[in-house]
Formats: sequence, structure tokens, C-alpha cells
Amino acid sequence: MGISRNILLWASDSPWMRLHVPKWKFVKKAIKKFMPGENAEDALAAAKKFQADSIPAVFTHLGENLQHLSEGLEVRDHYLELIDKIAEQKLDVEISLKLTQLGFDSSFEVTYERFKDITFKVREKLGNMIWIDMEGSNYTEKTLFFYKKIKSEFDNVGLCIQAYLHRTEKDLKDLMSIDGHIRLVKGAYREPADIAFNFKNYVDRNFLHLSKELLKIKSQKNIRVAFATHDEKICEQILRDAKHYSIPRNQVEFQMLYGIKSGYQKELAKKGYKVRVLISYGDFWYPWYMRRLAERPANVWFVLKNIF
Ligand SMILES: Cc1cc2nc3c(=O)[nH]c(=O)nc-3n(C[C@H](O)[C@H](O)[C@H](O)COP(=O)(O)OP(=O)(O)OC[C@H]3O[C@@H](n4cnc5c(N)ncnc54)[C@H](O)[C@@H]3O)c2cc1C
Repeated sequence: MGISRNILLWASDSPWMRLHVPKWKFVKKAIKKFMPGENAEDALAAAKKFQADSIPAVFTHLGENLQHLSEGLEVRDHYLELIDKIAEQKLDVEISLKLTQLGFDSSFEVTYERFKDITFKVREKLGNMIWIDMEGSNYTEKTLFFYKKIKSEFDNVGLCIQAYLHRTEKDLKDLMSIDGHIRLVKGAYREPADIAFNFKNYVDRNFLHLSKELLKIKSQKNIRVAFATHDEKICEQILRDAKHYSIPRNQVEFQMLYGIKSGYQKELAKKGYKVRVLISYGDFWYPWYMRRLAERPANVWFVLKNIF
């Protein structure tokens, strides 16, 4: 893992940086590359534009690790209102969230009830899916347990799994026993070598291995599988593998972030593949933004350019 990636991921956790950096004007300007704005309305307007290019969206209201359990109630209510707005505007938008936004650090049960409220409304009003983000490895076991429990009550829930973790292949087998709906990512957090692959080529290799496994399972089971990567080489291999397993184009799904590989997103959608763009919004963007910089440290030059 590169030194610059390590420094940026360290900075994403630094309390001093979390407090001060979001106030710097040049950083505020640079963040526009990755998010359309801080309000739900900004995200809704962006989703409308993407929908015109046959690219539906996934929304995330940025936030994680609450100070008080009660704050999670506001997050729940925000999502409940958001669902009404999505339905009113007849947009094809799904929701993705971090369990720590709802209070996972303090109470499993309270988080479960809040998540259930959102999931129920998603099913009734939007008739689509809600996704659970996967956070750092100290949450993996707990999140898998949470997912299995909610999946036994609701089928419209998908889970993110991370190719950089050694354990993921085993977790995937386990998740397939409950017909889990899966979003595969490489992984965005700082993890020690005994838990995660520390070299990019190992992570890439494992992503490809797991994607093949998922496509094979998808050719036999009615599960939703989404590949969340901007790595064009990997995407092209997935397209070849999907063809090998005779999976129709409209069942091969990619999810990519707003502002990254926009041309490629449109190209895939035009060819008839399913592409969803993940649109993040909200004012608590600092740790999320630092992880985006860490994924591609060259982005730091883009931030610095905004000083001048
Ligand atoms: C929809 C979605 C949901 C996600 N959910 C989670 C989650 O729940 N948990 C989690 O740990 N991670 C999540 N991630 C992040 C993921 O783990 C990776 O950190 C991120 O996708 C970058 O990896 P990559 O697969 O694009 O490959 P990389 O090898 O990092 O990048 C491939 C190419 O994509 C482009 N690229 C990638 N990132 C950037 C960037 N930030 N800026 C500019 N160009 C870039 C570059 O051209 C790069 O060469 C999610 C990602 C997406 C797209």
C-alpha cells in the first residue's frame, strides 16, 4: 500500500483534520468534482440528469459514527422524507447507507429498528432495494450478522463485501446460503496485512476471482449482483465472463461514483449494461472525501490547483 494512500487514510480519521479541513474554501471547491451539492435537492436534480442517459442512481447521505444514539433518529427521518421525494419525482433511485449512521456503535437493536423502518418504506413506496455499506473490518462480523437477520425479514436488502479482506471468499459462500444480494467493491479503509491484502495487484486478482464466482452463482440463482468499480480492465473481464455464463446484458450491473469515469458509465449504459451512479450528498463529507483522495492520490493535485 502506497505511503500517500496511508497518509490520506490516516488523515480521514484525524479529529483535528475532521474539524478544520471542511472549512477551507479550496477544499470545498474541489469536492464539487465528487458530489453535486450538500442537499438532497442537489442529488435529486443530478439523478434526473443521469436518468435521461438511462443511468439510475443510488443515494448516500454522508455521515458515519454518531456522537449520540439520538442523532440516528434524524438520519432515519431524513431517509424517510427522501423516499417521499424520490417517489414524487418518479426517479429510479435506491438508497445505500452505513449502519454507523443509524447508531451501530451504540446499539444493534436500535439500529435494526431504524433500518427496518427505512427498508419497509423503500419496499412499499419505491419497490426497490436498499444497500448496506461495508465499513472498517471491526464492523465486518457484526454487519454480516445484521444483514442475515434483516434478509430473513426483507428480501429487498443488499450488502457490500470487500475484495481486499482475506475472509471475503468464505463470507460470500455463507451469504449465498441465504441468497444474499451483493455489491462487490475493492475496499476503502486502512486495514492491517493479517486481515487484508496489502498490494493492489492481489486485491485486483481477488476482485476478479470473486466476480467470477458471483457471475457463476448469478447464472443459477435469482440474486442481484453489482460490481462497484471504475477499473475498466476488470469491468471488461466481467463482461467477457458474463457472456461465458450467458448472463444477459441488462443483468450485468456496475455501480460507479458520481464524477468518476462518467464517459465509461455512459458507454456501458448505451451498450445495454446496467449502470447505477452513486451520488453522495450532505455536509459531513470530510472522511468520505479523504477516502476518495486515497483511492487516487493524483486527485490531491486537483485540490491543490484550486488554491490558485
Ligand atoms: C458504488 C460504490 C459503492 C462503494 N461502497 C463501498 C463500501 O460500502 N465499502 C467500501 O469499503 N468501499 C466502497 N466503495 C469504494 C471501493 O472500495 C473503492 O475504494 C473504490 O471504488 C475505488 O476502487 P476501484 O475499484 O474503482 O479501483 P481502483 O483500482 O482504485 O481504480 C481504478 C481506476 O478508477 C479510477 N478511480 C478510482 N477511484 C478514483 C477516485 N477516487 N478519483 C478518480 N479516479 C478514480 C482511476 O482511473 C483508477 O485508475 C464503493 C465504491 C462504489 C463505486
